[in-house]
Amino acid sequence: CGIVGYAGGRPALDIVMDGLRRLEYRGYDSAGVAIVDAISGLAVEKAAGKLINLEKALAERIDTGFDIGMTGIGHTRWATHGGPTDRNAHPHVSADGRVAVIHNGIIENFAALRASLEADGVEFRSDTDTEVAAHLMAAEMRALRGSLEGPALLAEAMRLVARRLEGAFTLLAVSPDVPDAVVAARRNSPLVVGRGKGENFLASDVSAFMEHTREAIELGQDQVVLITPESVEITGFDGSPATGTAFVVDWDV
Ligand code: GLU
Repeated sequence: CGIVGYAGGRPALDIVMDGLRRLEYRGYDSAGVAIVDAISGLAVEKAAGKLINLEKALAERIDTGFDIGMTGIGHTRWATHGGPTDRNAHPHVSADGRVAVIHNGIIENFAALRASLEADGVEFRSDTDTEVAAHLMAAEMRALRGSLEGPALLAEAMRLVARRLEGAFTLLAVSPDVPDAVVAARRNSPLVVGRGKGENFLASDVSAFMEHTREAIELGQDQVVLITPESVEITGFDGSPATGTAFVVDWDV
């Protein structure tokens, strides 16, 4: 129900958790975060219930990835497919551990995608429609390695996945293989970019980042955006350059 992404020069966990708190008013049944860092890799935590449950789970974690990672994503879930449990909470991680995704909306054709992934031997760990996107991202990234690398690889993998999904989605992904980027796609579901100095934000709603920046871009239908600390790159699902709609958040909460 709420989505936050961050790529910058500050520890991402605080910024992502703070963004989720600002989106709490929308209602949710579970929450989770994924933080990436070049050295410590991917760190994921999620919990059913209020954000306090996620905060408690995070407080018990001693691995450093959560403290030092400067790239992250966070999600509050309003369950549509699969009950509101810990294991169905987002992020969902691919079987190879190289991608974590969060999603708002409904992937209408998930059952067919899941069946074909399972036929290829992928083991699912949740009952959500969303999990297919994690495995598809990982498969596309594996296929693209060798011809693309870094943020360009992440963006192309997302475009290929987005073209295969039907329904409504704001979909964000991070990978420990591309530790300074967050990629996102949108169709029939909201996504805004917040442009900062040396940092950029993604959110389902500007209230998640407006204390940090008021320079925003609303993504258009069927667009993919890749953010790094220094760049925002928008394309259509087909890879053609796109711009979104820039605006300034000139109101207060
Ligand atoms: N359909 C997804 C799920 O049930 C996402 C729900 C949402 O928008 O939070 O997990």
